[in-house]
Amino acid sequence: MFEANLTLISVTSMRAMQRPPLVDRYGRVHRYLRVALTDRCNFRCRYCMPLEGVAWQAKAEILTLEELEVLVRLFARLGIDKVRLTGGEPTVRRGYEGLVKALAAIPEIRTLAMTTNGWTLAESAGTLRRHGLSLVNVSMDSLDPERFRAITVRGELDRVLTGIESALGAGLEVKINCVVMRGVNEDEIIRFVEHFADCDVTVRFIEFMPFEGNRWDRADIYPYAAMRRDLEARFRLEPLETDPSAVGKDFRIEGCRCRVGFVTSMTEHFCDGCDRLRITSDGYLKTCLFGREEVSLRDLVRSGETAEVLEEAIRRALERKWKGHPDLATLPQLPNRSMIQIGG
Ligand code: SAM
Ligand code: SF4
Repeated sequence: MFEANLTLISVTSMRAMQRPPLVDRYGRVHRYLRVALTDRCNFRCRYCMPLEGVAWQAKAEILTLEELEVLVRLFARLGIDKVRLTGGEPTVRRGYEGLVKALAAIPEIRTLAMTTNGWTLAESAGTLRRHGLSLVNVSMDSLDPERFRAITVRGELDRVLTGIESALGAGLEVKINCVVMRGVNEDEIIRFVEHFADCDVTVRFIEFMPFEGNRWDRADIYPYAAMRRDLEARFRLEPLETDPSAVGKDFRIEGCRCRVGFVTSMTEHFCDGCDRLRITSDGYLKTCLFGREEVSLRDLVRSGETAEVLEEAIRRALERKWKGHPDLATLPQLPNRSMIQIGG
């Protein structure tokens, strides 16, 4: 019966004409969908994984890869042209490489990206590139093996560095995601640039954000202004033109091949240009990373609803999207899931 529901939605979608784009009350057109493949992870990063652990989602709650593909096809019809696979750790989801191939083949999807801890990248980069992945963000918060281990609990720096080399060798665009925390790794910002100076990568320094159970403290944020000040004491930064919807402020660095970017969600939010939607691994649509309001697309798909009903639910959720996320004083008090459940 379930198969039949999926077929129904696919057929309806194929017959339908291209639909109007997904625009919210503030005129923001949504083109970017982030999809969490799982809430599981082989690392235990301290800033991400709740200390007391998480109640893992049951297998039946998690979207099947077929359901995910159906949803992405529907979103593609609604104007989504960039999709990012994330999680949890997307590469621990069995069959994710096949999903990459299927999604890359959707004509409307121009960019297919993945955010990963890089653990399996050395073996999989070539296949992923051949399957149509264009961009990979690899998380790396320290270049010191012991500190890397202390932050990730289960990670190994060398293995991730090899993964990054393989990704570059395979022709993938590579960004390095580094969450900067005061008293943990803020002293490595310059070292990161020096390490990747000759590589065609963007190193993105991310401000530490609050999520359920992640021991966030406002005092642990190492703000954008401080990161920039530190870098500019050593390098000359030239702003790069970026898309108005980009989360990062990107810069070229004089004398280096690598670029740097800053994700300043805490001190300079970029909600005005937000074009992102998220699907959690259990199939809920989230219109904001920090918003608790969610709509279960999974239940609609599983109850055999048509593409039109799904579209209506998506548009109604988008109408309720807030203009910007609350300020730093309010944000940590709002109920939200952990990052691993939302999909970063
Ligand atoms: N497991 C993959 C990884 O680590 O790249 C994908 C999921 S992870 C949740 C996505 C991104 O969110 C990672 O780059 C991670 O560093 C970032 N992240 C997780 N918790 C965060 C937090 N509290 N503040 C800022 N970034 C965070
Ligand atoms: Fe896992 Fe990524 Fe979270 Fe680290 S940041 S615990 S690798 S999901």
